[in-house]
Amino acid sequence: MVWDFKLFHITHSRYLLHDTGGADHPETPERLRVIASALAGLNGCCRLLTVEPTPPEKEWLLTVHAAEYLLRFEEVALSGRSYLGHPDNQLCYESFEIAILATGAGLTGIDLLEKEAGSRVFCSVRPPGHHAEKTVALGFCFFNNVAIAARYWQIKYARRRIAIIDFDAHHGNGIQSTFEEDPDVLYVSTHEHPTFSFPGTGYAEEIGTGAGEGTILNIPLLPGAGDAEVKNAFVEQIIPAVEKFRPEALIIAAGFDGHQLDDMSGLLFSTELYGYLGRKIAALGDRLCEGRVISILEGGYHLPSLGASVKEYCRGIMERRK
Ligand SMILES: [Zn+2]
Repeated sequence: MVWDFKLFHITHSRYLLHDTGGADHPETPERLRVIASALAGLNGCCRLLTVEPTPPEKEWLLTVHAAEYLLRFEEVALSGRSYLGHPDNQLCYESFEIAILATGAGLTGIDLLEKEAGSRVFCSVRPPGHHAEKTVALGFCFFNNVAIAARYWQIKYARRRIAIIDFDAHHGNGIQSTFEEDPDVLYVSTHEHPTFSFPGTGYAEEIGTGAGEGTILNIPLLPGAGDAEVKNAFVEQIIPAVEKFRPEALIIAAGFDGHQLDDMSGLLFSTELYGYLGRKIAALGDRLCEGRVISILEGGYHLPSLGASVKEYCRGIMERRK
C-alpha cells in the first residue's frame, strides 16, 4: 500500500549526546538509533521526511516550568554533576541545551502541521518529558515536551482546546499537574496501576480540580493487562471522551514501554497493538481536528520492540481511515 501524504520524522543528532552514564541506564541514545532505522523501512510506502527541530525561545519553556528550575538545571549540568535531583535523572554537560532542543521537536512539528494540514508527525526525542514537573526532574524527564507543545499550540496558533492522549506504560504526572485546573486541556492516560508502578499517581479518582474538574481521565491497568484491555479502553472510554471534548488539536505522549518484552512495566502489549492505536488516533484526529495530530516519544526501553512498535504505530497513523 502506498500513501499519498507525508510522514515528518522530527529528530536531531544532538539528542544522541544526552549521556545518561552508560549501559546501566535504560534511557540510552541507542533508542533513537533503532527508531530511525525502523522508520527507514517505511520508505517506499510513504514519503518519510526527516526534519531537524530548531531550539525554541526560553519563553516557551516558561509556559510550563519555573525560571528558577531552568537556572538550577543549567547550573547542575554545567558544573559537571551527574544527575539532577534524583540519580534516575542522569545528565551530562550538554544535557540542558539538548533538553531544550527536545522541546523544540514538538514546536517544529506543530509549525509543519499548521502549514501542511493532514501530514503525519512523529517526534523521536530524548530526554523524554511526561514525568517532568514545573520545578522537578523525574523519571529520566527534565522538560515536559508534551505540555510545552500544548501551550505553544494554544498561544501561537490560538488552538484553545487541546486533547492529550498518553499511552506510555507510566502515568504522565507532569502533564496532569500542568493542566489539572485547566478546562481547555483534556488529559487521558492509560498506564500500569499506580499501586504497582512508578510514579504512583494516575488513580481513576484523579479527575482534575476546580475549573478543570472532569478534564483528566486516568485509566489504570492491572499488571498483566494486554491488548484487549487497551482496545476496550479506547473504544469504551477514550474515543468518547475525546469526541465529547471536541479538541482543536491532539497531542500523543507516545511511550512504548508497555510492550510485553519491555521490563519497565508489567503490561503485556503486543507490537501490533501500536498499529491499532495509530489507526484509531489518526482517525480521531482527522474526524475532530482536521488532522492536527502530533506524536512525541516518551518511554520504550527494549530496543528491538521499541523500533518495531514505533514503526507499527507510524504505519497505523499513515492509514487514512475515517
Ligand atoms: Zn514509561
